[in-house]
Amino acid sequence: GVKSYQFMLRTKNPCGKVTNKLYLTMDDLADEFGSGTLRLTTRQTFQLHGILKKNLKTVLSTIIRSMGSTLGACGDLNRNVLAPAAPFTRKDYLFAQETADNIATLLTPQSGAYYDLWVDGEKFMSAEPPEVVTARNDNSHGTNFPDSPEPIYGTQFLPRKFKIAVTVPTDNSVDILTNDIGVVLVSDADGEPQGFNIYVGGGMGRTHRVETTFPCLAKPLGYVPKEDILYAVKAIVVVQREHGRRDERRYSRMKYLVNEWGIEKFRSVTEEYYGKKFEPFKELPEWEFESYLGWHEQGDGAMFCGLHVDNGRIGGKMKKTLREIIEKYNLSVRITPNQNLILCDIRQTWRRPITTALAQAGLLLPRYVDPLNITAMACPALPLCPLAITEAERGIPDILKRVRAVFDKVGLKFKESVVIRVTGCPNGCARPYMAELGLVGDGPNSYQIWLGGTPNQTKLARTFMNKVKVHDLEKVLEPLFYNWKRKRLQGESFGDFTNRIGFEKLQSIVEKWE
Ligand code: SF4
Repeated sequence: GVKSYQFMLRTKNPCGKVTNKLYLTMDDLADEFGSGTLRLTTRQTFQLHGILKKNLKTVLSTIIRSMGSTLGACGDLNRNVLAPAAPFTRKDYLFAQETADNIATLLTPQSGAYYDLWVDGEKFMSAEPPEVVTARNDNSHGTNFPDSPEPIYGTQFLPRKFKIAVTVPTDNSVDILTNDIGVVLVSDADGEPQGFNIYVGGGMGRTHRVETTFPCLAKPLGYVPKEDILYAVKAIVVVQREHGRRDERRYSRMKYLVNEWGIEKFRSVTEEYYGKKFEPFKELPEWEFESYLGWHEQGDGAMFCGLHVDNGRIGGKMKKTLREIIEKYNLSVRITPNQNLILCDIRQTWRRPITTALAQAGLLLPRYVDPLNITAMACPALPLCPLAITEAERGIPDILKRVRAVFDKVGLKFKESVVIRVTGCPNGCARPYMAELGLVGDGPNSYQIWLGGTPNQTKLARTFMNKVKVHDLEKVLEPLFYNWKRKRLQGESFGDFTNRIGFEKLQSIVEKWE
C-alpha cells in the first residue's frame, strides 16, 4: 500500500535545543514534504511523518544544512541525550546541558558515511570540544578499547538502542530512572559543579506474556568527579557493547545485563574499563516533576514561556501562530521530554504582545484546561507506528474526558489529577510503566492496566489487569477512584494509594463493584 513508501524521520537535539533556523526549517518541511504537522517526541526531538522516499534526501540535507541532525535518532546506538529543557542560566543547569551535549558528541559515530550519503560528501561537522576528543581517544584509563575508526562502537554497533539522560538534583523532567544511563550533577554548597551520581540499567520496553522481559528502573552505580564523566560513560557503553546480549533482540537492552549480573558485578566490570573505582553515591534531595509551563525568568533578564502541546502534536492554527511568533521575534525553542515546547530568550517588552498572540490562538494554558491533560502522554501508535496493537494518541483525548467524568462522579475536584500514559504496544515509548495509571495496548481496543507509578516518576508501576476493553474502562476506574477519594491519607497521590492498599485488595474491590 501507500504506507510502505512513506518514511518517519526523527531529529537529534541534545537537551531539546532547537535553533530559530532549525524550527523554521522543520515547520516548512512538515508542510512541503510531511503530513503537515510537527510532532514533538518524549526524547526531545522532532518527528516528521509521511515523508515519501523520493523526498528523503532533500529533507535530510535541508535539516543538516540548518544545523540539525538525524544521525543517531534511530538504530542501535546512542539516542538523543535528554537534559532539562529549561533555559535557566543557573550554573548547574548550564553544566548539566553542556554535559549532555558532550556525551552526545562522544557517542556520535565517527564514520563519515552518513553525511556522504545524504549531502554528497559536503562536510557539516561542527567542531568538537577538546575534552570530548581526548576522552574518545584516550585509552590509558581502562582496558580493551578497540583500535578502530570507531573507538567507542568498535567494529560493531551496540546490541540495541541506548538512552542517556542528564539532570540536576530535584528536576526529574527527564524521567531519569528510565534511561540506560542516568547522570545527575552534584554541586557544592556554592553551586559549583563537582561531579555526578550515575544510575544504570533503566528501560521501558517489554513483550506481552514473556515474563522474562520487563520494564526496569535504573540502579545506583556510583559517583565520579566531574572531569571523569566522559570516561565513565564511555566505559559503561563499552561494557554493554562487549557483554550485552546479541542473540535475542528482546534481551539486548543493557537493563538485562545489569539484572543478570547484579549491580556489584556490573560495577566491577565497568571499573576495569573506567580504570578507577566508583565513589559512593552522594545523597540528594527528593525528585520532583517539572513541567516549566507558563512564564519564567531565565536569570539573565530574559524570560521563557512553556507551552503545553497535547501529545506533542503541532498542527493547524497552533502551528501557524507559533511560526509567526518564533519568526517575528527570532526565538530559539526547546522541546521538553513531556512533548511540550518552550519559547526562549524573550525580552520583557515582548512578553505582552507574545502573550496576546498566544492567547488569541488559544495556546496559553487557560484555567479550564484539564490538569489531567498536563501530565498525560501517549505514543503515536495507529496509524503511524507499525508495532501498534491499538490506539494511543488518537484515543487519549476521549480517555482523559472519561477519567474526568469518573472523577466528577466520585466527587474528586477539578484541580486533582493523576499521571496517565497510554501506548499502543508494550514497547512503552510514552513511558507508561512510570505512570500512576498506565494503559498499554494488548489487543484491538484493549489495554493492560498498570498502576503504582508516582507523580515524580520514581516508582515502577506494576500490572494490575489484562485485556480491559476500552469501553469497559469505567468499570475498573470508578471503584479505584471512589476508594482513593474516600480512603487516601492526607495528600496521598493515587500511585502511593494503590501501592499502600495493595493490588489484591484493589482487584477484589473492582470485581465486586456494581
Ligand atoms: Fe509504536 Fe509501541 Fe512505541 Fe507506541 S509504544 S510508538 S505503538 S512502538
